[in-house]
Amino acid sequence: MIELDQRQIQLRAHPSSKAEAIRQAGQILVASGHIEPGYIESMLGREKVANTYLGNGIAIPHGLPQDRELIKRTGIAVMQVPEGVPWNDGETVHIVVGIAAKSDEHIEVLRRLTRVLGDQEQVNKLIRTNDPGDIIAALTGDRPPALAREVGNDYASGFEAVIHNKTGLHARPATFFVNLAKKYQSDVKVRRGNDIANGKSLISLLKLGVEHGTTIRVSAEGADAPAALKALQQAIAEGLGDEDEEAPSAAQLVGTLAWTPRSVAATVSGISAAPGLAIGVTRQYMQRKLVVEDRPSDAMEEGDRFQEALNAANAELDQLYDEVKTRFGSGKAAIFRAHSEFLNDTGLIQQTVGLIFEGHSAAWSWQQMINERVAQMQKLDDPILAGRAVDMSDVGDRVLRHLVGSDAPAPATPDAPVILLADDLTPSDTAALDPDTILGFCTVKGGPTSHTAIIARSLGIPAIVGAGQDVLKIADQTTCIVDGFNGKLYLKPHDDDIQAARALQQELQRKQDAANAVRFEPAVTSDGHQVEVAVNINRAADAAAAVEAGAEAVGLMRTEFLFLERNSIPSEDEQFAAYRDMVQAMQGRSVIIRTLDIGGDKEVPYLNLPKEDNSFLGIRGVRLCLLRPDLFIPQLRAIYRAAAYGPIKIMFPMISTLEDWSQASALAEQIRQEINAPKVPLGIMIEVPSAAVLADQFAQEVDFFSIGTNDLTQYVLAMDRLHPQLAKQADGLHPAVLRMIDLTVKAASRAGKWVGVCGGVAGDPQGAVLLTGLGVSELSVSTPSIAEVKAQIRSRSFAEMQSLAQRALLCKNGAEVRSL
Ligand code: PEP
Ligand code: MG
Repeated sequence: MIELDQRQIQLRAHPSSKAEAIRQAGQILVASGHIEPGYIESMLGREKVANTYLGNGIAIPHGLPQDRELIKRTGIAVMQVPEGVPWNDGETVHIVVGIAAKSDEHIEVLRRLTRVLGDQEQVNKLIRTNDPGDIIAALTGDRPPALAREVGNDYASGFEAVIHNKTGLHARPATFFVNLAKKYQSDVKVRRGNDIANGKSLISLLKLGVEHGTTIRVSAEGADAPAALKALQQAIAEGLGDEDEEAPSAAQLVGTLAWTPRSVAATVSGISAAPGLAIGVTRQYMQRKLVVEDRPSDAMEEGDRFQEALNAANAELDQLYDEVKTRFGSGKAAIFRAHSEFLNDTGLIQQTVGLIFEGHSAAWSWQQMINERVAQMQKLDDPILAGRAVDMSDVGDRVLRHLVGSDAPAPATPDAPVILLADDLTPSDTAALDPDTILGFCTVKGGPTSHTAIIARSLGIPAIVGAGQDVLKIADQTTCIVDGFNGKLYLKPHDDDIQAARALQQELQRKQDAANAVRFEPAVTSDGHQVEVAVNINRAADAAAAVEAGAEAVGLMRTEFLFLERNSIPSEDEQFAAYRDMVQAMQGRSVIIRTLDIGGDKEVPYLNLPKEDNSFLGIRGVRLCLLRPDLFIPQLRAIYRAAAYGPIKIMFPMISTLEDWSQASALAEQIRQEINAPKVPLGIMIEVPSAAVLADQFAQEVDFFSIGTNDLTQYVLAMDRLHPQLAKQADGLHPAVLRMIDLTVKAASRAGKWVGVCGGVAGDPQGAVLLTGLGVSELSVSTPSIAEVKAQIRSRSFAEMQSLAQRALLCKNGAEVRSL
């Protein structure tokens, strides 16, 4: 996100010509340290070759590409010219946005500008406004700059941290943060870029829109500031109470389902939120409509009513928390703690009371304030954080119900089992539903990380979210089938389809039971070829569950987790203890310990590594370790010391050249000799195309390969593994990736070495079959996938898998491979 502060904005400018306007905009960029003065000439030069008039009174002058080295850092300057300045051919410009773009951060500004462009009213507002905040809000995001002013600058003492929570600082971790901050007297602030929030206000914190991977600065001032900062830093490192819920894909749970009914009246498509098939009749879930009128009585009386409503809502939330905690565990109940926190927000309460004292009713005042906050949250860039608006509105309604009295009827809970259709289910709705009467869900809104989806998954109820407005048009009692695997709702299916779906339901259940029953048996194909099924775990504490789920070894222990969940480098002794505990917990089963893979998406703030322009292509994995013996040597010593306690293998990540390998392995051998440790197998990860292509050369030297398909896919297809729009295409079963794997396996087998796969594809049932067919001899997967992967391997002959794999190599894309 591009930064824009008030110094880069000039209101009420009066340039006499286009050239002067460009010069003035350029001067602002010079003064703010974004460009060298020479770039202004380049901006003027650009006008000779291109027209930078965008439309609707807005122009975006910028320099020529060859002069980019005159840009010190990417930035923009905005000039408001209320009277207008003539541009080209009779165009008049009122907003001049000077752009100095080193890379592509300004694209976001352009995207917003085009949005502004179509909105004449907003353009007019920007032309007239006296508040630079309006311009900042329009161009950099819709976050109100008032927020920044509300709490001023941050404090001198503080720390920076990266938020590793998968869905950023969403309601639950933010609540955890706020509650912890409130335990201290000191004031706490959280900065994200130019925005600052009060660290003790949930709403303020949520409005920062902190996404996964964002760096924030937490600062505190007051008598106990050092203690507060220490506790907050540790809490962030430990995940702010977030459960490590990996939303398992449908496929990972019970296998994919390639089924479509033959004859249905209509199909509604949405996003798969919880796998499974459900058959039943529909029922629209009518949320209560609360009618709020502004009929105030005496202000003191309204104030009392408001207080009573808040107390009642808080009491309900406490009760709900206890109930949900008993049913689904504290992680899932935590959302109701977050709701209570919304109610404790001083700003929200003060503003509501302010309206009451201006002469409005408590209900009306509260509704205004809630609606305002809901609207602000909906505008956040991050869709997951924006989705939390539903929580705000849920808690708002909870209070409102007490304020408007009980005449609004509660939505009738179905008495016979139904498939529930709704606009969106709030956490309160979901918690109130009786799982015995709900066969499946389908909602208009929501995403796979919504609380509805999370609860549906823990209840084992097939669910579809984000299915669009048509859902609300479906009449009650319509027979339908929910396909939670593929996110499809089939309306009025033919009797034959219903029977087929029932048979499939039973078959899926039977398969899952059968796979579980034989999870301890080895994975042997019907013609006697055995594949080792190992597990990816990082902590000794997870070993027992993995063994209980059928794991035969640890195929990948990601040691970076030891470094991520704390504030300082773990000592050699601490690391030794972690590795020894793991190998002991696996009771004689082999453990592959991967050396540190920091960099890319895994940031460790306290290492103070230089910022990378392109972190996935920079100093990460073994490259970093080779440059930082202070990290590498203690780790290698710790692993070799632990090797005395059980069968360990060492694996180096991100090997891309033979030199990487020879340096890393030479250092390992030197350390082994120094501490007189036993020899252990040394292997490398194949996750970079160069390593796959040179696998024949590597195979002469290494003891084994383990293919990291997560990274291999991103590097082979040049698709960022975290990119939301590319997620679907970045398929590890793409034939280009499979060919790299084929190359690796063939090279290894010629040299008599073995190959495993520890990337996500190994745990995909289709992936497991194809990888086995390609000759991979170990699959390392997450704990819940073990039984299913073993079952897949047992389901066919090796010969069949080999022939499938050969066909897959000839396919044109991932979808074609999957359809095999
Ligand atoms: C991989 O890249 O496939 C892998 C297993 O490593 P990570 O996901 O830790 O990068
Ligand atoms: Mg990797």
